[in-house]
Amino acid sequence: MQKGRFIVFEGIDGSGKSTQIRLLHRRLTELGIRCVETFEPSSGPVGSLVNQIMTKRMRADERVIASLFAADRLDHILNEQDGLLKTTESGITVLSDRYYFSSYAYNGVSLPVEWIIELNAQCAELLRPDLNIFIDIDPEKTLKRIENDRVSKELYETYDRLSKVRENYFSAFARFEGEENVIVVDGDRPPEQIADDIWEKVKDCFNI
Ligand code: ADP
Repeated sequence: MQKGRFIVFEGIDGSGKSTQIRLLHRRLTELGIRCVETFEPSSGPVGSLVNQIMTKRMRADERVIASLFAADRLDHILNEQDGLLKTTESGITVLSDRYYFSSYAYNGVSLPVEWIIELNAQCAELLRPDLNIFIDIDPEKTLKRIENDRVSKELYETYDRLSKVRENYFSAFARFEGEENVIVVDGDRPPEQIADDIWEKVKDCFNI
């Protein structure tokens, strides 16, 4: 049986990742390709802790946040019930809302990126994405979307931080050029137009 693909969506908060995952899920399902959606942090115990920190219900310094994300990611890959490896090996494609590039970008705002890379090395060895899709959009625009959409803001949701996060994404992509399959799409367009762009790249990934 052919392994399922692992397709990761990246982008700053509010860039439209979950919207695009939903649209891609629909297209793949229509073609009879089995797929599931997942996100980071996971819904497991470490992921719940991370969620509490990101929504400011619990405090932790940035080094702890980076380590918790890496631990959650490893569990998400390896856990025996519904781990990403097990899922892809059983022929199901996984559409994931973020993976390790978000760690470089978000935690690298205030921690040495070398250390973050070290922390994620095992995840990269165990499961590399077939395709990383970065939805690019100006932080000012996503902040407006978030303000309309949500009651409370998360830890990184300020203009300065998100701008730095966006820069960090691009420096991480440059650094991993050749090792990672990254495409950047313009996120400041109607969702269907973005989805059409993404679909062209995904078709290559599936040889459709
Ligand atoms: P993310 O998962 O990256 O945080 P979402 O897909 O949840 O982003 O989108 C954040 C908000 O922006 C939602 O209210 C969503 O409906 C809206 N949105 C998503 N994509 C677009 C788009 N291309 N143009 C305008 N608004 C969008």
